[in-house]
Amino acid sequence: MATKDKLITHVLKEEPGSSRNKVTVVGVGMVGMATAMSVLLKDLCDELALVDVMEDKLKGEAMDLQHGSFFLKTHKIVADKDYSVTAGSRVVVVTAGARQQEGESRLNLVQRNVNIFKFIIPNIVKYSPNCILMVVSNPELSFSPHIVDILTYVAWKLSGFPHHRVIGSGTNLDTARFRHLMGEKLNLHPSSCHGWIIGEHGDSSVPVWSGVNVAGVSLQGLNPKMGAEGDSEDWKAVHKMVVDGAYEVIRLKGYTSWAIGMSVADLVASITKNMHKVHPVSTLVKGMYGVKEEVFLSVPCVLGNKGLSDIINMSLKPDEQQHLVKSAETLWAVQKELTL
Ligand code: NAD
Repeated sequence: MATKDKLITHVLKEEPGSSRNKVTVVGVGMVGMATAMSVLLKDLCDELALVDVMEDKLKGEAMDLQHGSFFLKTHKIVADKDYSVTAGSRVVVVTAGARQQEGESRLNLVQRNVNIFKFIIPNIVKYSPNCILMVVSNPELSFSPHIVDILTYVAWKLSGFPHHRVIGSGTNLDTARFRHLMGEKLNLHPSSCHGWIIGEHGDSSVPVWSGVNVAGVSLQGLNPKMGAEGDSEDWKAVHKMVVDGAYEVIRLKGYTSWAIGMSVADLVASITKNMHKVHPVSTLVKGMYGVKEEVFLSVPCVLGNKGLSDIINMSLKPDEQQHLVKSAETLWAVQKELTL
């Protein structure tokens, strides 16, 4: 008799049930691993699956995490390049993507990433037909529109999922950066600083100055020029710092990882814990704010265990609304050229 059988008397005769809260991360680069770590440290899953095409790196990352199991409350950490390892996931986070090659056009880069998604997305759907898909991949920062919003549309099309189950990480990170910088200016914790960045992720994002407040006190009420030219306090610069922040981190350390990892884990928490928390994430906005095209842009959305259940209707000023319409047109100009 094996030691295990001498030690353990089985009570449950059938096989143990499958995981109830499984999270998969596709792509174990800097962003994928920062996301995995944040998900694990926040105790968001009972099983974590990792997938990548680089087998040694994948195995190494998985083993490194498994060696920390003693310090975690996650029962299982698994990894494979075969998507069967992802089976039964509740949330699948896609961070995989190909970077721009020298002299490559924007359209070519996007199409190359679409081709990668043509492999990844059907495999995710095959093994987790009921999952919530979260797209984080955003190859090439210096393009506007940012590719994460386009790839969220691509993932939606390729998955055949209803759009409430396909979410782009969108401006959740931009908004976190804004609140951090606002907090620095006011010497307050970011969670007490309320303000929303919506629209495209990155360079063309829209700060909704009219809604910026602390404890319900409108900052534009105190400083009517907030966010506009001629503001002696130059609050507009805070949004510029949000946009430039990612470039600056990349210049200094080569990539961004921790903040995006934490922001994605925050989204995963709202889903797995069915929190009904409001986040600025990328969703299908056709028909809203004058947007006519089938595009994904970030607006405040309610996240819970069914995915993205509701959208909060913001009172946008005409210029903010115009900005969204223009973003939608730019996104669509790229999307309509793609071969899906
Ligand atoms: P990285 O190059 O370190 O990692 C990418 C990983 O994807 C690599 O391990 C690679 O092997 C893997 N990969 C490539 N093709 C794959 C495939 N077909 N299947 C599975 N895995 C595959 O990059 P990173 O720094 O981790 O960034 C990942 C992505 O996240 C990038 O596109 C980056 O621009 C994006 N990002 C997004 C945001 C955001 O706000 N949405 C912020 C930061 C970074």
